[in-house]
Amino acid sequence: MTHPLIDLQAADTLADQLRHRRDHLPERDVVAAARGALTDWERRRDALRLRLAELDAAIERAEADAHQIDVHKARLEKQMKTVIAPREAEALQHEMATLDERRGALDDAELEALEEQSEVDDQIQAMTVEEQPLRDALDAAEVAAVAAEHQIADELTGIASRLDGLRAAVDASLLDRYDRIRKQQMVAAAELQGHRCSGCHLDLAPGETDEVKASAAADGGVADCPQCNRLLVVR
Ligand SMILES: [Zn+2]
Repeated sequence: MTHPLIDLQAADTLADQLRHRRDHLPERDVVAAARGALTDWERRRDALRLRLAELDAAIERAEADAHQIDVHKARLEKQMKTVIAPREAEALQHEMATLDERRGALDDAELEALEEQSEVDDQIQAMTVEEQPLRDALDAAEVAAVAAEHQIADELTGIASRLDGLRAAVDASLLDRYDRIRKQQMVAAAELQGHRCSGCHLDLAPGETDEVKASAAADGGVADCPQCNRLLVVR
């Protein structure tokens, strides 16, 4: 029969391990990775949408500018019909040529923007098919992580109710010593196995072993490990 202190330590260790597992759940890493992938996708889509808006604005601007040039040119053409002086006609022709040049450059820029607009549109369309799988993966990862957390929480609840009984079986002053050591290190109670403390895994000198055994015999089977100060149960 094991000492109640060792049973208590075993239950506490199990709870420690469960809490550690809960705090380092691989399922949470999967959630983080899935969320990262979705965020990355959204960032890329938003950048493309922004580019699309810029192109829309540029096209609109080019069309407005082109319209103004057309209006200006129509006015010059009208003026041309009333001009008699050759120098004046030459000046008007030069002005109209400049307008044509600007109009041409605007058309080229608009065409370029239209081409890019259709490319960016295609890119956004192509990306759209990736969205649902990314969202599904994130949802599934969340569900798995929550399920894993619930399972651990259930196990911890089970241990917590067992701990009450286990603690009640340990002598009050011994329990106090155990709790104090537990604040410093997770394993507070160990067994003497031959000459070795199962807490620090160090061998005791033969003299120390004898002292531990004598001390334990006088104190309900429990002594202090001279190496690590843990409670050492001697059977
Ligand atoms: Zn020890």
